[in-house]
Amino acid sequence: MDRPPIDDGVLTVRDGVILALQPGDTARDLAAEDLGDVVLMPGFINAHTHLELGFCRGRIPPCPLWDWFDRLIELNRRPDAGPLRRQSIIEGARESLEAGVTCIADISRSGENAALLSDSPIRKTCYIELISGAKSPPYDAHSLEHALAKVRTRAQDDRLRIGISPHAPYSVTPEDLAAAASLAAHDGCPLTVHVLETQDERDWFAQGSARLDAYLAKYGVGGGARRPGGSALKLLRTTGILRHRPLLAHLNYVTDDDLAILKKSRAAIVWCPRTHAYFGHAPHRWLDMLNAGIPVCFGTDSLASAPSLSALDELRFLHAAHPGVDSMTLLECATARGAEALGLGQRLGTLTPGKWADFVTIPLPEVLVRDVGRAVLETQHGVSGVWVNGANVFTRR
Ligand SMILES: [Zn+2]
Repeated sequence: MDRPPIDDGVLTVRDGVILALQPGDTARDLAAEDLGDVVLMPGFINAHTHLELGFCRGRIPPCPLWDWFDRLIELNRRPDAGPLRRQSIIEGARESLEAGVTCIADISRSGENAALLSDSPIRKTCYIELISGAKSPPYDAHSLEHALAKVRTRAQDDRLRIGISPHAPYSVTPEDLAAAASLAAHDGCPLTVHVLETQDERDWFAQGSARLDAYLAKYGVGGGARRPGGSALKLLRTTGILRHRPLLAHLNYVTDDDLAILKKSRAAIVWCPRTHAYFGHAPHRWLDMLNAGIPVCFGTDSLASAPSLSALDELRFLHAAHPGVDSMTLLECATARGAEALGLGQRLGTLTPGKWADFVTIPLPEVLVRDVGRAVLETQHGVSGVWVNGANVFTRR
């Protein structure tokens, strides 16, 4: 991701960290393991998911977001939902690793993901989600701070970071958004927010939206106050959210003004292409964002709207839809740029000496491959091996 591909490369790892990456002769190096005809590349980063919703897989047919939320809330209020959510988190981490995802940004309402994933080798940023006025905590800034402190009792290490996620500018009050921003400022914790996922959200801020008003009133969330006359991104700017390198999810309905705000901010964008297609949204402006120099990375979103937790599947889906987009750019968005977006660019995302040894192999039997990136996106093979901190955590048999 930071240099041209190396033919017959040798990657040297010590104590979980990359020591060297160079052309070599594995036959002469007795300590080296010959991985065969594979592409060896950084592990994939899934920068937006909700593993706890895995049990909703295939249970909600495509529909407008507000109807989808109804169905999702109904499934989550069933008596057996708690154990199913916990099981989904554990299974989701395993499924992610087997798809070559070595790092996830995972949002949970309960904050249970941090404890449940502490034994998983996957690298994770676990965000606790705040919805103002929700029935269960965190439902305001105070309960968010309390939840953060509670989850924090668990030791954090290189593989686990705890973050906060004020859900969206319409479902979190301006006061709670401002409090979340100052919490992130004092604590230094990562921050992610869903923004402009629907046209209704854009309309709600611009001139009001009866559909969004009805949704908020139905669940009693968002504080009940309409906020027309502005925009979602302007609210994130005035409440201080944009100052804290937030990871902003979706941005499906941005205007030129929004792009100008994003360009001036320190925000990164995570887009979920297959979930975008599932909801049938208007074309996304991710290429405009990339051309404007706005950081873009990819996520799957949850299994309630995406068919898998594989970042590689997202890339292959995008490549099929946009064959003219440079394959290496796509791969960078799911590795190096994802790491930057999570604030982990110094340790993750490329096979650079000094970084964590998180990498995957993809079988590529072709003898001569001119465009390696394209071959990775066009071969039918999934990942064959996955390493985190230099330790093999999955091998396809
Ligand atoms: Zn989401």
